[in-house]
Amino acid sequence: MDKPVKLYIVVPCYNEEAVLNETSRQMLELMRDMRARGLVSSQSRICFVDDGSKDDTWRIIDRLTKEHSEIAGIKLACNAGHQNALFGGLMTIRHDCDCAISIDADLQDDIRVIPEMVQNFIDGCDVVYGVRNRRDTDTFFKRTTAVAFYKLMHIMGVKIVFNHADYRLMSARALEALSQFPERNLFLRGMAPLVGYKSSCVYYDRNERFAGESKYPLKKMLSFAFDGITSFSVTPIRLISSLGALVCIIAVIMAIYTLVEKFCGNTDAGWASMMMSIWFIGGVQLLSVGLIGEYVGKLYKEVKRRPRFIIEAYVNNKEDDQNV
Ligand code: UDP
Ligand code: MG
Repeated sequence: MDKPVKLYIVVPCYNEEAVLNETSRQMLELMRDMRARGLVSSQSRICFVDDGSKDDTWRIIDRLTKEHSEIAGIKLACNAGHQNALFGGLMTIRHDCDCAISIDADLQDDIRVIPEMVQNFIDGCDVVYGVRNRRDTDTFFKRTTAVAFYKLMHIMGVKIVFNHADYRLMSARALEALSQFPERNLFLRGMAPLVGYKSSCVYYDRNERFAGESKYPLKKMLSFAFDGITSFSVTPIRLISSLGALVCIIAVIMAIYTLVEKFCGNTDAGWASMMMSIWFIGGVQLLSVGLIGEYVGKLYKEVKRRPRFIIEAYVNNKEDDQNV
């Protein structure tokens, strides 16, 4: 590709007045540098998405758009949450760009790898994941919970890239494919791999948030993790069925044991029948819940209305027909 790339950098912002000036300064510098090197075109933009902030965030974005032609702004009517704000931003700009990079406003993710991401896009990748090398700058708690989260997702059969958050480049056609996922519970880092186009990773060291505070307190983090699992996996439902089967097996063993005890005369009246029914009913109930769960799981997959396929290429030499 010879032409410079039309790049949009999409930055969701919620109450980020403390970081916006510095973030925009560093991003502008990078953007101008990439333009000077002929990597990105002059129509490239840094697009801040104000996610219904209560502070001066929008006023700052508005001012920045007036001062710099490279900066664009989107204001959401109310706080929609990080994933929705990001998705809203990406969907709004997807027809204006060749590719878009999503990144947090606090510059925890190193913007110096952006040129490398763009280069990977030029080399033919549709999705480029920013992956954290080290997590030394995160607190011990955040680090261990994050590792546990990725492991759990893996066990649940959800394909996500280890140590990748939402710092990611997506080509216009990958965004187009993403737009075909009409689900409401967004978990973008799980959805991007579902798009299936060629992807690659770039690695960077994660910094500390330089100002302001995290918008992901423990409660939000846990609910995000739970959302990720329940939006992508029916494994928890399957676990109920497996548990049901296990209890049924135990019921059979208990039945044999109880009968042996009874005929050996080691039991009180009523004990054998009680034991057998408790285990038996428990197992049947769990199995039944699991079975209903299987149908709920099917329903859940249906209501998501995810695309059944995404076409990467269609080769059809129509001119040949006329020659026959
Ligand atoms: N964010 C948002 N809406 C929200 C919460 C957060 O747009 O409701 C943005 C926030 O401004 C930041 C990004 O999402 O750009 C990630 O948030 P943060 O850095 O606080 O999360 P952490 O890095 O601590 O996980
Ligand atoms: Mg952050």
